Amino acid sequence: MSQVNQTQQNKTIITVLKCLKCSYSVERQFREGDFVLKIDGTCPNDGSPLYIWGIYAKSVNEKK
Ligand SMILES: [Zn+2]
Repeated sequence: MSQVNQTQQNKTIITVLKCLKCSYSVERQFREGDFVLKIDGTCPNDGSPLYIWGIYAKSVNEKK
């Protein structure tokens, strides 16, 4: 009875990062100040800079 009836879908903003040199890519939660083509972090494979390739909203209902 204490459960809140949620009609709204929970969504998470995901930031996709890609390496400038190789095909490495990684997703993480969006952080304030993120924007496309921003350099953020380094590639674990070759130490090259990672840039933000895209930002999208993802439903957290799906489980894998
Ligand atoms: Zn790389």
